[in-house]
This record gives sequence, C-alpha cells and structure tokens, in this order.
Amino acid sequence: MNEELHCPRCKNNKIIDYGETFDCLICKLEFEKKDLELYDDESAILSIEEKLDIVKVLKTNSEKK
Ligand SMILES: [Zn+2]
Repeated sequence: MNEELHCPRCKNNKIIDYGETFDCLICKLEFEKKDLELYDDESAILSIEEKLDIVKVLKTNSEKK
C-alpha cells in the first residue's frame, strides 16, 4: 500500500509520515495523503496550511459584503 510517498511540491521523499498526513522536510509543508490520490496533477495539490488560508479568505469575504 505504501507506494513511495513524496512531496507533491518538490518531489522529494524526505517526508515525515503522520498516518493521514505527512510533512515535507524541504518545503516545511503538510499535505494530506488522500490528496495524492485525488489529483492527477500534483501541482494542483494544496498544503494544509494553504487550504486553511483559503478557508479564511472565503470566510472573510462572505462575512464582509
Ligand atoms: Zn516539498
């Protein structure tokens, strides 16, 4: 099952496996493993940090108006 995990951003395999998620030691970003299966295009995968930022922006936008 564990087909070589690697960072979708820098393609490095220096990662820390947390089970559901993993950290890239090079980018210092955390990714969700399920995203690797979800996207064919790895450059479309967002880190958890980036996802949280987007949620924040969307929230602020909907609260403003
Ligand atoms: Zn990386």
